[in-house]
Amino acid sequence: MLNPNVLISLVGAGPGDPDLLTLKAYKLIQQADVIVYDRLVSDEIQQLIPHGVKKIYVGKASGKHHMNQDEINELLVSLAKKDRKIVRLKGGDPFIFGRGSEEASYLVKHNIDFEYVPGITAASACSAYAGIPLTHRGVASSVRLITGHCRADKPLDLNWKSLADKDTTLVFYMGLASLPQLREQLIEAGLPAHTPAAAVENGTKHSQRRCLSTLDKLPADVIEMSINSPALIIIGNVVNFAEELDWFSPATGEEELDVKSRQYTADA
Ligand code: SAH
Repeated sequence: MLNPNVLISLVGAGPGDPDLLTLKAYKLIQQADVIVYDRLVSDEIQQLIPHGVKKIYVGKASGKHHMNQDEINELLVSLAKKDRKIVRLKGGDPFIFGRGSEEASYLVKHNIDFEYVPGITAASACSAYAGIPLTHRGVASSVRLITGHCRADKPLDLNWKSLADKDTTLVFYMGLASLPQLREQLIEAGLPAHTPAAAVENGTKHSQRRCLSTLDKLPADVIEMSINSPALIIIGNVVNFAEELDWFSPATGEEELDVKSRQYTADA
C-alpha cells in the first residue's frame, strides 16, 4: 500500500535490469512529482520515469561526487518543503553501502515523514546473474558483504584474519581499485591463493561481463579484460559453479535478434 502521508520515499532501484525493480518501486516512480537519482540507476530504469516528472541527478561517481552527501541531504529537506511525492532513487539497496540510512536519519532529524523500499542489492543480483550461488550446502555456510572502498591515501583497514575462512563467501563492493591489496592481505591471512574468485562488471545488464579466476590471479586478469566500475568481487569456492550455472546470456546485437525471433516463432 502506498502511504499518502509519506513525503519522501527512499527507494532501491536494484542493480540495473529494470525487471528487477520491485512493484512498489515501479509504482512510486510512476506516481512521483520529483525523482532524485544517482549514477547507479541504469538508463533503462531512467526511461521508466514518466515525461513531466522532475528529474534531479545528484551524481556520485567514486572520488568525483557530483553533489556531496550534505548537499543531497539538504536538497531532500528543501524539496520536502514544496513537493509532495519525492522519490529518492538509488542503485541496489540504499541501506547496503548506499548511505541511505544517513539520508533517512537526516530526514528524521528534520521531522520529515519517509518510507523505505528495499532493492535487490548487487551481491545477490550480480552473483545470481553470473551463475554463482552465494551459499551452497557443504561449500559455503556464510556470506560477508564488505566494502573495498578506502580513502585515497589510506590502506584498507579490515579484520583480514576473520575474512580468511574457506567456508565463507566474500563479496566486495567498490573493490576494484583495492583488488591487489585484497589479494595480498587475504593470502597473508591464510586464504589459499588458488581460492576461486570472480569479478562481475555491469551485473544484470546487457553489457554484463564475468572474469572468472583465482584469488592469486584476479588482479591481473581484471586488468587483462579491462574490467571497469561498477564491478563486484566474489571470492570463495562457490565461484566454481559459475561455468555449470551460466544461465544468463546478455542479449546484445545479433543475439538479441535471435532471442526475439525465437519468441516470434514460438508465439506463431
Ligand atoms: N547500494 C548498492 C551498492 C552501492 S556501492 C547495492 O546495494 O547494490 C557501489 C558498488 O556496488 C559498486 O562499486 C559495485 O561494487 C557494486 N555494484 C552495484 N551495482 C552493480 C552492478 N550492476 N554490477 C556490478 N557491481 C555493482
